[in-house]
Amino acid sequence: MTTETSTPPAGAAPERGDFIREIVAADLRDGKHKTIVTRFPPEPNGYLHIGHVKAISINFGIARDFGGRCHLRFDDTNPTKEEQEYIDHIQEDIHWLGFDWGGHLYYASDYFEQLYQWAVYLIKAGKAYVDDLTADEIREHRGTLTEPGRHSPFRDRSIEENLDLFERMRAGEFPDGARVLRARIDMSSPNINLRDPVLYRILHADHPRTGDAWCIYPMYDFAHGQSDAIEGITHSLCSLEFEIHRPLYDWFIENLPVPARPRQIEFARLNVTYTVLSKRVLLRLVNDGFVRGWNDPRMPTIAGMRRRGFPAEGLRDFVAGVGVAKADNVIEFGQLEHAVRDVLNRTALRRFAVLDPLKVVIENYPEGQVEEMEVVNNPEDPSAGTRKVPFRRELWIEREDFMEEPPAKFFRLAPGREVRLRSAYFVTCTRVVKDAAGEVVELRCTYDPATRGGDSPDGRKPKATLHWISAAHATTAEVRLYDHLFTRPDPGAGGDLFADLNPNSETVLPGCQVEPTLADMPAGETVQFERLGYFCLDSDSTPGHPVFNRTLTLKDTWAKLQAQGRQG
Ligand code: ATP
Ligand code: MG
Repeated sequence: MTTETSTPPAGAAPERGDFIREIVAADLRDGKHKTIVTRFPPEPNGYLHIGHVKAISINFGIARDFGGRCHLRFDDTNPTKEEQEYIDHIQEDIHWLGFDWGGHLYYASDYFEQLYQWAVYLIKAGKAYVDDLTADEIREHRGTLTEPGRHSPFRDRSIEENLDLFERMRAGEFPDGARVLRARIDMSSPNINLRDPVLYRILHADHPRTGDAWCIYPMYDFAHGQSDAIEGITHSLCSLEFEIHRPLYDWFIENLPVPARPRQIEFARLNVTYTVLSKRVLLRLVNDGFVRGWNDPRMPTIAGMRRRGFPAEGLRDFVAGVGVAKADNVIEFGQLEHAVRDVLNRTALRRFAVLDPLKVVIENYPEGQVEEMEVVNNPEDPSAGTRKVPFRRELWIEREDFMEEPPAKFFRLAPGREVRLRSAYFVTCTRVVKDAAGEVVELRCTYDPATRGGDSPDGRKPKATLHWISAAHATTAEVRLYDHLFTRPDPGAGGDLFADLNPNSETVLPGCQVEPTLADMPAGETVQFERLGYFCLDSDSTPGHPVFNRTLTLKDTWAKLQAQGRQG
């Protein structure tokens, strides 16, 4: 069964040679840096998602490949949205993915005093001022892409007055929103980020780490690059939406006495069809009860995908396959499934489970007899060995494996027809038992004792092989089938994201029958239910009531389309 704790092998990454690695390699070659230091900087305002897996793999992967290190830094500058719960889960998820920051765990809040001092430094240099305009007025003064901004009437305050007001902002004299500190750069810059950006705002809010020590908090832009510089980050790798922030990033580095000069490099954000990767939206799905929580198996979060049964290796392989490019694009969800299926096909043990049970009674099989059938655990991995599965007179098979009046292409069980029960015997349906409503409730069959193990000495080959479970040995399980959370590949493109939620994204099957070995499988393990797909034991399971999530079906439509594309 798949347990994922391994670290990805160094140097084996197929994403080698991307444009960021080329820059890093050149910086080492030219002696610009001796050691590469990167960082992954999540804001603890939600759980990590598949997009973060890309950022984590790039930052930790590059540090690993070049013998450097990668810091984990929480960008905890907005206490109204950040929580300790998120801080804890983010760490757990990165470890589970197979990456480690060693001792290098940092928080932007560790630098609050230093950042404050640097703000004072800018004021003294005449490069920052306290503005009394409201947020709306500031927005109005900012101008547009085609129109320059206008100066605030407070822009030319004296240095003394600015120092005094900023100190009093820190001391808590003013209410939220009364004043901000702004950089004094250029209100007519074509880059709106340079039109006197806000550096500090007043927020009388308790912070998960600094408590009530502060009532002014730095903006992301003022905290990020300086935190990079303090930690000696050499390459600050982030997604493309930060590209237009880079001139401001560089402005701070140039105008402050920082101890290092990190370089920001942007890569394309990961987008996946049928998926939304915005923490704001994911939070709403959780809060409004559309899903069972941040770790709901339908969520694109690491915690959700893990609960769904996606192995860490599959997630790493997926983002490696996507690569590191500079242009935004949308990746098919099927490509993610393909990467996961590839790992599971190699590693997942095969088991018997019946989702929609139909009783079979083998009339010529002795009452009370039990045979232990030897069944292969994983045909892809001989070292996984075999197991014993009990066979008796009464069995469960899948209801859809029987048709009373089969159409031409249906080769499975039907009246008078013989099929193979995997690793057991050939059976022939002799009679159909129905209830008063005409519903098929039981099949009467006979078996051929000469076919034990699933082969006939006379070379007979049934056209179908079915999975089965001894009714007396089976455990009843709840199985949850999952489908996309959204109905359209581009959720929200029609105007209302929440109208695109898939009402059938979860189907609960309460009365499934599973092999006895599955009852005591550890939660979080993923197996293949033969002929049905991959399934993972859910943490909602209780003794005597196992719950399984369908991780994936067996059908790899994506790979098939790729193959056709290559031919055509
Ligand atoms: P929000 O959804 O609120 O915009 P975010 O997903 O950007 O937040 P952060 O915590 O700021 O969350 O992200 C941490 C890092 O992860 C950033 O450096 C960001 O570049 C990267 N990142 C976030 N989303 C993606 C994505 N879809 N693809 C690649 N990298 C991403
Ligand atoms: Mg962000």
